[in-house]
Parts: sequence; C-alpha cells; structure tokens
Amino acid sequence: MKVFKFGGASVKDVKGVQNVINVLQKTDTSNAIIIVSAMGKITNALEQVVHNYLNQTTELKDSLDYIKNYHQGILRELFKNGRHPVFEKIEVFISDLETTLDRNKSTQYDYVYDQVVCYGELISTTIVSEYLLDQGYKNHWLDARDLIKTDNSYRDATVNWDKTQQNIIEKVSKIGLTVSQGFIASDPNNFTTTLGREGSDYSAGIFAYCIQAASVSIWKDVPGVLNGDPRVFKNVKLLSQISYEEAIELAFYGASVIHPKTLQPLQRKEIPLYVKSFINPENEGTSVKKGQRLIPFIPCYIVKKNQILLSLSSLDFSFIVEDNISELFNLFYNYQLKVDLIQNSAISFSVCLDDKFNTFDQLHTKLKAKFRVICEKNVSLFTIRHATDDAISLLERNKNILLKQSTKETYQMVVKQ
Ligand code: ASP
Ligand code: MG
Repeated sequence: MKVFKFGGASVKDVKGVQNVINVLQKTDTSNAIIIVSAMGKITNALEQVVHNYLNQTTELKDSLDYIKNYHQGILRELFKNGRHPVFEKIEVFISDLETTLDRNKSTQYDYVYDQVVCYGELISTTIVSEYLLDQGYKNHWLDARDLIKTDNSYRDATVNWDKTQQNIIEKVSKIGLTVSQGFIASDPNNFTTTLGREGSDYSAGIFAYCIQAASVSIWKDVPGVLNGDPRVFKNVKLLSQISYEEAIELAFYGASVIHPKTLQPLQRKEIPLYVKSFINPENEGTSVKKGQRLIPFIPCYIVKKNQILLSLSSLDFSFIVEDNISELFNLFYNYQLKVDLIQNSAISFSVCLDDKFNTFDQLHTKLKAKFRVICEKNVSLFTIRHATDDAISLLERNKNILLKQSTKETYQMVVKQ
C-alpha cells in the first residue's frame, strides 16, 4: 500500500485533476491512499472568508462567491454532463459552509478558522474522487475528520495517535484506492481541527504510519527536494537522496518543500518518502530514507521571511541566565511563538521568532517591564546546511546582517528584509 499526496498546486485546475490519473498510470499504482490538499490557493481564499466574516466586512459575499465560482469552473470542464451528482455534492458543501457561518456564535479566530478552511479539502477531494470514478478508477472517499483525531488546539492540533491508528486500521481498506483530505482532522467533540498550514504532507505521514505503508510520495511542481527554493536562490540543484535526519533539519529551518512534522512518523517506521514531479512522474526525484548520505553533497540554502529578531538585556546589567531564560521560554511557549535561532551572552539574549499567531505585541509589552528590549520586525533568517566559505560569502554579499552564528553543520544569519 502506498500513500500519494497531491498538494494544492498539483490540482489547481482542470489539467491538474486530470493529471492525477496520469500519475497513477505512469507509476502503475492500484493500491494507494490519495491525500489531496485544497485546490490552488483556495486555503488563502478561505482565510479571507474568515477574515471578512469575523470583521463583518462587506466583502464576505464576494469572498464566498470566489470559492463557489472557482470550483464550479473546474467542475464544468471536468464533467461535461451538467447533471453529474458531483455538482449537487459540491453545492451541499458550499451551503454547509454558509450554514456554519450563519449559526456560529464563536468569535474565537482559531476555532472559526478551522470550521471554515476545511471546506477547501472537502471539496477538492470530492472532485478528485468523482473524477477518478468517472474515468473508471473505483475509489472510496473518506472524511479525514472521522479518522485523524486530535486535541482542540485549533490551527495547530496535536494528533491522538492511538485513536487515529485505530480508526485508520478499521476504516481504510488496504486494497484499491482511497481518497481523503490532507490538513484536516477533528477534536474529541468532533469539531474540525487543522494541522497547520501546508499540513497535508503531515496527514500523508500519519496515514502511512498507521497502515505501515510501503512508501509515501509527495507530488510537486518541482523535480524533488532542491538545495534551495528556486523562487529565492539561483542555480539550485536536485538532491537525489537524503536521510530522514537531514530532511528533518531542512524542514525545521524552513525548507517549505516538506512540512516539518511529516518526517517523524515516517522515520519511526522507516517508511521511505519520495518527493517527485507530478509533471514527470517517471523521474526519480528525491528519496528520503534512513541513514542515506546526502547526494550530491552540496550546501543547502533556506530562508524564512517575516521573522522577528528580539534582543533582551537586563535593566540592571545582571546576567541573563537559567532562571530568566527558562521564564522567557515559558513565555514563548505560552504565546505560541516559535523560536528559530538563539544567541546569548552574559547580559544579553537574542532570539529569532516566528509570530504565526500574532501574539508578539502582547508579549512585547510584558517583556518591557522587565528587560531592555530591542526588536526588529520583518527580518529574514537564512540558513545554510553544509556551508562552505564560498557559499557563505556569496550569501552575505550586499546584505544588512543583524546577527550570525555558525556550527559545524549549520550557518545562520538574520538580515533586514
Ligand atoms: N490546504 C492547506 C494549505 O494550503 C494544507 C496544505 O496545502 O498542505 O495550507
Ligand atoms: Mg496548500
């Protein structure tokens, strides 16, 4: 049994959906769980719906219409027979979404977010599943919310592995094709939760772990894992093989090609991960396996934008040591700020933070009472794994560097954007 994951870019239009069949044919796959993300940039569009809804803006209707029209356009092309039952199914999802908004009383952003954005995946998987069926590929559509159980940390839920494994073993057939959603899950009260942006890779990892899959393939619009994001870095090269450890490090530092949580479940069961091109599915791409050497052995570049560099020193020149540092980390944890880099000296302490939940300003006020605080917003964190002197000097050129640090394997610098 294999797990295939198709991201938003791979099913962003009619051709993309049709290409899913091409991938199944070229890889000779008949037993697989197919995990699909929302089409194209639909998750962003749904985030806009949440924004318009909670802020009661006049654009709410337009933003909902956009979601409706986007999918209907694709449906009309895929199913020339306008009476196909899929039209009705998608209409039901859209009206469910509208009912959810009408009935909701909560003003909690994270909760409302998850109840709304899940429709992107529910709709995309229904379209893919119905299209496969229409083309003679029998498959089962499963609602991932009946399978993946989590706590109620909306937008960043933690998986309950025992319950999830039980559900998946019970409900997912090991033969034939299953189609289900990435990114979405449910809490103990059956409210929808999500696993973090780009979390569909992680869903693929969860399914693979629970059924002990033979492999996971992530189908991308790039040939595999490259040694840098081609939108940011020039002359990037394909990494043909890497180890789980290396992939975890790359993902941790912000390589967006694989969601950071995806690799842990795969590594625990030594399930190989392939990252391949959905345009050329027969090409090798990148394989991620246990203990593999990095081939080719070259520097790998990662950038994380829109970070915050926070530097603290004590008001009275006392040391920043264990007790302060542990208090600070508690605060970062409580405010859901992700720490990407740490540097400290006797009286000062700097961290690079990812303010995903927009809580930084609250924390900032709190810290000012106790520390001298300098903060620089909109900075970029660059990381080079396996850095060489040449690679570093090239990257540093013409940049306003605020802080840098390097260890044997990893060089990092924070620069003004
Ligand atoms: N659709 C979700 C997102 O765009 C999940 C994913 O694509 O992996 O973040
Ligand atoms: Mg996506």
